[in-house]
Amino acid sequence: MSFAASVLTLYPEMFPGALGLSLAGRALETGTWSLEAIQIRDFATDRHRTVDDTPAGGGAGMVMRADVLAKAIDHASPPGDPRPRLLMSPRGRPLTQSRVRELAAGPGAVILCGRFEGVDQRLIEARNLEEVSIGDFILSGGEPAALVLLDAVVRLLPGVMGNAVSGEEESFENGLLEHPHYTRPQEFEGRPIPDVLISGNHKKIAKWRRAEAEKLTRERRPDLLAPGQLLVK
Ligand code: SAH
Repeated sequence: MSFAASVLTLYPEMFPGALGLSLAGRALETGTWSLEAIQIRDFATDRHRTVDDTPAGGGAGMVMRADVLAKAIDHASPPGDPRPRLLMSPRGRPLTQSRVRELAAGPGAVILCGRFEGVDQRLIEARNLEEVSIGDFILSGGEPAALVLLDAVVRLLPGVMGNAVSGEEESFENGLLEHPHYTRPQEFEGRPIPDVLISGNHKKIAKWRRAEAEKLTRERRPDLLAPGQLLVK
């Protein structure tokens, strides 16, 4: 069964965007996953096709209306749809590789892209939306965040990555950042490839890579090594 993504957006032209190329694009063509970009404005009910209004309580910007969004979601994801409903949001739980893996193992995702100041809180509650953030910074809209999430998911779908093993050794998959990589030429601007990597001794190479990964993680992301974080042996 293929992974089915439905994206609700005011800018359907942004999809598949970057995901129409390379590995994700090929997988889209061959049906490993599908992508439907739905124009939220089509669910507005007034003459002007209004999707937003001024914030209750005052303040700057506009808020996306719950009633219009609910119609769009109910169209994309009728009751009984097993797919999780996600709202891209800086207030969400930060996206992790383990959540990405869970999503990739499931039937797909319905993804709502916010614009303006965000969406009416009652919609989030009434449609049980899972808020997902891609980091502690503010984008102008949820579309690039949805593309990021889908990119991370699609590369894990069966058959998408040529060399499946490489996925398992990547940063975060074992709680560590990945070790450094080298390839030819043997010497670049006076810098040789570390001897151990051309020794042919696979046990020594594995040990060196593990040590480098731990050192890098300690230096750059000590939070990953915090107590309670499991270090896989
Ligand atoms: N006023 C909001 C930010 C709105 S940004 C706040 O301060 O929390 C407009 C839209 O961009 C959001 O509704 C969301 O869909 C998207 N967005 C912005 N930053 C994001 C992030 N870090 N992760 C995921 N989505 C984001």
